[in-house]
Amino acid sequence: MTTFTEVDVRCAICGRLSRIAELTSTSSFGPPDLDLRPQGPARWALALGIQRCAACGFCAAELGKAPPGAAEVVRSALFETARARSELPPTARDYVCDALVHEGVGSPSRAAHSFLRAAWACDDAQAVTEARICRERASELLRLSISRGEAGMPREVAFAVLADVERRARRFDEALAACDEAEWALEGVDADDEDRASTWAVVAYLRELAEAEDDACHSAAEAFATGE
Ligand SMILES: [Zn+2]
Repeated sequence: MTTFTEVDVRCAICGRLSRIAELTSTSSFGPPDLDLRPQGPARWALALGIQRCAACGFCAAELGKAPPGAAEVVRSALFETARARSELPPTARDYVCDALVHEGVGSPSRAAHSFLRAAWACDDAQAVTEARICRERASELLRLSISRGEAGMPREVAFAVLADVERRARRFDEALAACDEAEWALEGVDADDEDRASTWAVVAYLRELAEAEDDACHSAAEAFATGE
């Protein structure tokens, strides 16, 4: 189940106190979506995973913490434009603001992570075009973080996630190229690695979906059901 409490948090950028709902626990059930979006209560706790300062607009998983250089990003024209994007669902806008901070301070992996969450929030609000734009930004930054060896997950998993992000953005050629990269990375994984077979099944399923130009949301459970 998902539980949260209301707490007063001081913004790390402007010092203003905000009363915010803070996630205390959540859970997920079963295999995630192909882009690692969890199932179960954790799926619906997306809005609680991001906090926003009502005064300066800073958004972060924890409002009381800001990476060095964040204040300059929050005061930039680019950030101001993102804050004013009323066509974005509110949760998506908060994640986009958080992503811009991470991108601005040179953390592409965390920026990709937040753009992907912005895309999920757009999915939930049926904001199809905005979801696609968020995935395009997520894929760009994920690719950059993989090239720097900073994706924060095994290379084959990072390319599988990238393949799904590209597929759902209807960039099927890019998705297939990412499947190739994932398979090359898998060739180098130890045969005893217990995740190796399941990652192969996921990549094979991603390839099938991309070849069929299927841009819908699919779960990893489907890959295991059809795989081999
Ligand atoms: Zn603030």
